[in-house]
Amino acid sequence: LQDEGQSNVSDRELRAPICCFLGHVDAGKTKLLDCIRRSNVLGGEAGGITQQIGATYLPAENIRERTSLKAEVTVKVPGLLVIDTPGHQSFSNMRFRGSSLSDIAVVVVDITRGLERQTIESLDLLKHSSVRFIVALNKVDRLYGWKNCPNAPIAKALKSQSDDVQMEFRWRVTEVVTQLMENGFNAALYYENKKIKQVVNIVPTSAVSGEGIPDLLLLVRWVPEITMERLTYVSTMECTVLEVNEDKDFGTTIDAVLINGALQKGDRIIVCTNQGPVTTNIKYLLTPYPMKELKVKGQGMYKHHEELKAAQGVKIAARGLQHAMAGTAIIVVKPGDDLE
Ligand code: GDP
Repeated sequence: LQDEGQSNVSDRELRAPICCFLGHVDAGKTKLLDCIRRSNVLGGEAGGITQQIGATYLPAENIRERTSLKAEVTVKVPGLLVIDTPGHQSFSNMRFRGSSLSDIAVVVVDITRGLERQTIESLDLLKHSSVRFIVALNKVDRLYGWKNCPNAPIAKALKSQSDDVQMEFRWRVTEVVTQLMENGFNAALYYENKKIKQVVNIVPTSAVSGEGIPDLLLLVRWVPEITMERLTYVSTMECTVLEVNEDKDFGTTIDAVLINGALQKGDRIIVCTNQGPVTTNIKYLLTPYPMKELKVKGQGMYKHHEELKAAQGVKIAARGLQHAMAGTAIIVVKPGDDLE
């Protein structure tokens, strides 16, 4: 992390960076997140969720525990908020919503298939929003003859492979590098990348046996391109609606990403609905437990909060949210503010 400002790094309160997982359907976005969270969202923990955008908060200590690699990380962020977007073609608006909220992105590519249609669409989104990204070259365990090295750093896993596997790996990496170049990006395997600011890092991973996951977490956590300026916590509240849900316990709720600032239970908020602006009060302010997915519904799945600070995936229960519109901002009305 770089400090672009003048102030002392230690004086600043940093918010969690927001990281969006993008890519073609079936490239392994959800499986990778499951592997990181050690959860099973894909296997039905949340039946029928693939059409939704999700958010998971990964506390720094959990990331540290999974990152066996040593690296100089001088700036501490409290954690990472991961946004999972659906890869299906019909959800390009959700991918746009996810990527536009993000500080960094992970583009997941299936090593056996290379760049596919929604990978290219994701790359276009990132090009236009100037969000920096990493490529997770996933499913390395599908290379013919791959020997599993569960949860090993990728360099170690590659060393244990036969010459044939290593050759196929090289060949497939070259293929993807060429395809990325055709789409306007210079990219290299991260451990061979000498120009990390100009050249996109590629991290080989397996979401099934876990090779490369420590590397991926390390890179996401230590992204030189995210500036301190961008991650400095500011009190101006910024919050975007992801989805409207009916909840058995809480009534109509909205899932939202708190990008900056803080929200409090009882806050008077303005929400955009397709029937005009609605002013309401936050009845419940909820989050899933750390490492759990916001979109996984169920009793006792949420933690109640009096106050929440960015960045977080939040569930807000209030009256009048039925027609709230995804992708719009929530505004807090402070005492003395002109409601109009
Ligand atoms: P998404 O659409 O990008 O979220 O893809 P999923 O996470 O749903 O994965 C699609 C399929 O590929 C599932 O059957 C996964 O089990 C499988 N898969 C994902 N990652 C890997 C991997 O690294 N190795 C192998 N062998 N299979 C994987």
